[in-house]
Amino acid sequence: MSKSKQSKSSRHGQRGHKSPKSRLPTQITVDDIVKRFALCGRCSFFVAGYKLLAGDEGWETAVQETDGRWVHLAWQPELRELIGRSYGNRLDIDYYFCEGTCPECRRSFQYHAANDEDLPEPLFQIRV
Ligand SMILES: [Zn+2]
Repeated sequence: MSKSKQSKSSRHGQRGHKSPKSRLPTQITVDDIVKRFALCGRCSFFVAGYKLLAGDEGWETAVQETDGRWVHLAWQPELRELIGRSYGNRLDIDYYFCEGTCPECRRSFQYHAANDEDLPEPLFQIRV
């Protein structure tokens, strides 16, 4: 009878607490962003709502195309309502620019109205 001394599950004392990585925007992955939004009830509500409007693909594409700081979402009128329900404040889209923050996690979002120069369509962006 051979007693195996190999302990297959010696995972106690995991070494190497990860030192806080410097957060370079370019290192943020789609996964990271999705997780960040999931951390906050209001923000995950918003994402769920956006997926209903733009589809999973719409959301994922937006996340993939992030510049590391903002996720740019295709504006549609329903977003205003969704923002109201998610964050409790309505965007005043009569202005050229308005912004708000999530009351829970303080994620900020901005709305830029379309203009004749460099912005043919309204722009909505939310922090990663
Ligand atoms: Zn939030």
